[in-house]
Amino acid sequence: MPKKTTVGARASVTREMYEQVMTPNYAPAAIMPERGEGSRLWDADGKEYLDFAGGIAVSALGHAHPQLIKALTDQANKLWHVSNFFTNKPAIRLAKMLCDATFAERVFLANSGAEANEAALKLARRYALDKHGVDKYEILAFDHAFHGRTWFTVCVGGQPKYSDGFGPKPGGIVHLPFNDAAAVKQYFAQQGDKVCAVIVEPVQGEAGVIPATPEFVQAIRECCDAHNALMIFDEIQTGVGRCAALYAYQKLGVVPDILTTAKALGGGFPISAMLTTQEIASSLVVGAHGSTFGGNPLACAVACKVLELINTPEMLSGVETKSHQMIEGLKAINQKYNVFDDIRGVGLLLGCEMNARHRDRAREVLSACADNGLLVLVAGPNVVRLAPPLNISESEINHGLVLMDNAIQNL
Ligand code: PLP
Repeated sequence: MPKKTTVGARASVTREMYEQVMTPNYAPAAIMPERGEGSRLWDADGKEYLDFAGGIAVSALGHAHPQLIKALTDQANKLWHVSNFFTNKPAIRLAKMLCDATFAERVFLANSGAEANEAALKLARRYALDKHGVDKYEILAFDHAFHGRTWFTVCVGGQPKYSDGFGPKPGGIVHLPFNDAAAVKQYFAQQGDKVCAVIVEPVQGEAGVIPATPEFVQAIRECCDAHNALMIFDEIQTGVGRCAALYAYQKLGVVPDILTTAKALGGGFPISAMLTTQEIASSLVVGAHGSTFGGNPLACAVACKVLELINTPEMLSGVETKSHQMIEGLKAINQKYNVFDDIRGVGLLLGCEMNARHRDRAREVLSACADNGLLVLVAGPNVVRLAPPLNISESEINHGLVLMDNAIQNL
């Protein structure tokens, strides 16, 4: 006899049931958004929230964008899935769009940021093995970096709190201080021949929204060139217009060998991609890597539309203008209440670091904002992070700043 389910696909469920049926690895807020439109969300009681969180830099075009709904439903009426035994038009179109818009010549499609990074790291190892032999395998990464939660990516990430407690870790991974060009140069001078790749976020997101300096990324590029190592840019959080360029590397004056992109690429539909050159991609021979869902036609059809809508001069310069507007508004709030030490970031990925008097109170700010109808994020205990939709309006930004002002006043 099959076990009977107590709720059908249409029966109502409540937020209270979460703890009864889900694994306890998240602590979601008590509010449960039910519906979204543009930069606004509503919960089950009809309470409205303005979204400065963007689903952690994912909802770059807001919620329920009519053109994304159309792209998704048009494709849903045609073809959902074929696996990689076949290819499909949306996947080829997406890869072509990504190649046209960046340095890339080849694209591997996957489903999440961690998977794109997993592919990048495996490719770097395989390419080094093919070209330079067994002794070139080291991955250089940076303290506090975040690259995902698969076993390889979480160990490459620089946050032991996420990788400790799961037994022996994969070897050949070295961490150096972020934004320390001298440390990178010194390491390469001593043991550069062992390094197969350096992976870096152009803005460390989870670590507290810390932009990489141009000198730092330049030093990585030069060391990689001098020692036949690959430079991997993890643009999972910074990509797809978030930093006022399609990809942040385009403003930093360096070109990576491999770039990973996810989050905003699907505007809320899960998809990721690893971009690289033809020469490096040649190491991914048939069977070397794969994914059942990677290149799924539904996800690719949506991502094509996202790229089309975001990769325009108007959208990207709008991100810059809105960034200034938000930073000025945040500075004004800080002048009134003196809560932040630093307001920083690139484009619409902003971080407000709490000052010594309010140390580690970022979560309290988040809760107070939510009570006032504004959704924000944190990046660690001491930084309030903002990543609103890129198409948020000027008046919505002003409204959000008023809600934040009220929230901080009440703190
Ligand atoms: N890399 C960076 C820079 C990220 O910010 C994230 C997610 O926050 C990831 C990788 C992992 O992406 P995902 O959660 O889609 O696996």
